[in-house]
Amino acid sequence: MASVELRRISKTFDHGPPALDNLELAVDDGEFAVMVGPSGCGKSTALRILAGLEQATAGEVLIDGRPVGHLAPQQRNIAMVFQNYALYPHKTIRANMEFPLRMMGLPAAERRARIARTSAMLGLDDLLDRRPRQLSGGQRQRAAMARALVRDPAVSLMDEPLSNLDAKLRVEIRAEIAALQRRTRLTTIYVTHDQVEAMTLGHRVAVLDHGKLQQFAPPQTIYDRPANTFVAGFIGSPPMNLWPTRVRREGNRLSVALGTHWLPVPPDHPAAGAALAAAASRPDGGPVIAGLRPEAFHLTDQAAETPRLPVVVSGRESLGHELIVTVQIQPGHADADAAVSGDHRSGPAGKAFAARLPAGPAPAEGRRMELAVRMKQLHLFNPDGGAL
Ligand code: ATP
Repeated sequence: MASVELRRISKTFDHGPPALDNLELAVDDGEFAVMVGPSGCGKSTALRILAGLEQATAGEVLIDGRPVGHLAPQQRNIAMVFQNYALYPHKTIRANMEFPLRMMGLPAAERRARIARTSAMLGLDDLLDRRPRQLSGGQRQRAAMARALVRDPAVSLMDEPLSNLDAKLRVEIRAEIAALQRRTRLTTIYVTHDQVEAMTLGHRVAVLDHGKLQQFAPPQTIYDRPANTFVAGFIGSPPMNLWPTRVRREGNRLSVALGTHWLPVPPDHPAAGAALAAAASRPDGGPVIAGLRPEAFHLTDQAAETPRLPVVVSGRESLGHELIVTVQIQPGHADADAAVSGDHRSGPAGKAFAARLPAGPAPAEGRRMELAVRMKQLHLFNPDGGAL
């Protein structure tokens, strides 16, 4: 087992912008780190550089604190598992597992012992004499993991290993991968574009965009305290609703405009200090980006529950256990309208946003209603996207 560090790694291919731009990532010994981001953000390139299959344009890869740039892939003691299994089709699973051990020059008794241990761990004992085509997709992926792990690698790299499996099997194998890593404590870096995999598997999640690291933190921190609007909009389904808007100060009270409504920012909000400074710097308030996740809104018949936003329903999706409604903010009073300067208003009806409501009869499209807003769940970002 080992720690892994990508130190200021950049990679530029012949054409186009950098695939990786000064990527810094330090994964602890025994940690399960997940790299997630949209297609083309550089996830696979980072893994390939780590494995030695690709050369970085700049920067260093360290395993257990030692630079490995000069080592060939097979000298790095890294196992790789891909989505396409990469098993030899004409060899049995046993022979597939034995092949890397032969390459390492291990004696027959040691090879047998390692195959037995790994196959028991992955539940492959009854399948060892079959060929890959005689296995289901899930069994094949398990066999591919077995072949990677039988070598006793220091680090395991997984590149979208579940993307060829159907939804049910993905959930099953995902749980197996998590359990396996807990048992082996093998340092693992797992690449996916699926945020559910990232949130459920990672001890820490690295969110990448355009070759740049946006945030590297435990999943709950990524969700609760996204470092910027990219992370806020990427993690969460539906994603966080974001409004380019303004905050203003009246006396000691801070408020933020949503559409044409001014809603109070709780005085103990973690960003209140910074937001106050931003707001205080301008007579008409300061520009910010406000963020509220769909679960920050709720329907209530408690008259005392404020603040509320008048909205009109423009879409709905029932997911069985919950209801996602798309709504648009209705304009407020004329004086509130006047309070928001023209360029920061999001139109008379405001842009559509998503609210997560408990399962129940879906409100009809076009229906007007009021949503209470949990302002404690408000996120505030700079106009450039960084969290305040
Ligand atoms: P996906 O989720 O679609 O696999 P990714 O995040 O893994 O995407 P990479 O495969 O790392 O992204 O690619 C990052 C960028 O580098 C992309 O713009 C891609 O087109 C480019 N790229 C990757 N490999 C090469 C190559 N061999 N030659 C030129 N450009 C490349």
